[in-house]
Amino acid sequence: IVQLYAPLNYFGTYYRTIQQSFIDMENMLDLMKAEVDVKDIDNAPELNVTKGEIEFRDVCFHYNSSRPVLKNISFSVLPGQTVALVGPSGSGKSTIIRLLFRFYDIHSGTILFDGQDITKISQRSLRKAIGVVPQDTVLFHESIRYNVRYGRADANDDEVEEAAAAADIHDRVLRFTDKYDTVVGERGLKLSGGEKQRVAIARTILKSPQFVLLDEATSALDTQTERNIQTSLTKVCANRTTVVVAHRLSTIINADLILVLKDGEIIERGRHEDLLEMNGKYAQMWAQQSENEENNDASRNLISLE
Ligand code: ATP
Repeated sequence: IVQLYAPLNYFGTYYRTIQQSFIDMENMLDLMKAEVDVKDIDNAPELNVTKGEIEFRDVCFHYNSSRPVLKNISFSVLPGQTVALVGPSGSGKSTIIRLLFRFYDIHSGTILFDGQDITKISQRSLRKAIGVVPQDTVLFHESIRYNVRYGRADANDDEVEEAAAAADIHDRVLRFTDKYDTVVGERGLKLSGGEKQRVAIARTILKSPQFVLLDEATSALDTQTERNIQTSLTKVCANRTTVVVAHRLSTIINADLILVLKDGEIIERGRHEDLLEMNGKYAQMWAQQSENEENNDASRNLISLE
């Protein structure tokens, strides 16, 4: 958290007001490199959440004018549905997430939340409506209760514990000597990657946003932990409009729409079965992952036989 405060102080008061958003975005964003060019228009109205729909319309974006990163990207996420972004490293998946959070302004096209152009509403109201579960959560050097309550400051203790239970970490917390008063973070009790992610999930459950942006963990977690976390994540996304960056295709079999990105373009789109039938890049990625998993299982079996 110390690392987070330094750049925030440096940017000044304006950025301190959206500290919460920065912390929510944590590792999804490169704080130091972030440009300070996103500004509200005068008297920007608040986002009015109605149905919970997201639309990306013909979006073009670059970090450096010499190289386009997203080229004419269009897609919609219907209320309560889940859209998954997949594709090779560097294809632009995380960039889409950052743009949804309006961390940068786009160069052409429009991003709409319930029909409202995100450049024409206040950033605060947009970010209030979005819950983010990053790959790797940074916790405050504070109690677990504080860390979960961060999702919604006025939540009472019962609500904090209910959220923790829904994120499947309540029982674990009760086993700590100081329970919810246990201080965590860098200089406190160290939580595992999976436990930290559960705290982030509990925060999001407590915040109860209409929109969820999810950056699935790449690996780090063992398979059983992964499965349990997947169950909690499914709960967070249920009935919320969700955009997920997926690394393991097995977790998005039920997504309402899968977008396959390559070099900043959508090269295939559809549901899991449609994409397999298409027999293109997605089908190839699926075959590759299945093969890897089988190999892993095989090597695990070998180990257990030894
Ligand atoms: P991964 O799966 O590895 O996370 P990704 O699909 O999420 O990759 P992005 O992080 O969106 O890819 O990156 C898309 C492209 O934009 C890459 O070529 C990357 O090098 C570039 N890029 C990302 N962030 C920045 C930045 N802050 N400044 C300049 N270029 C960037």
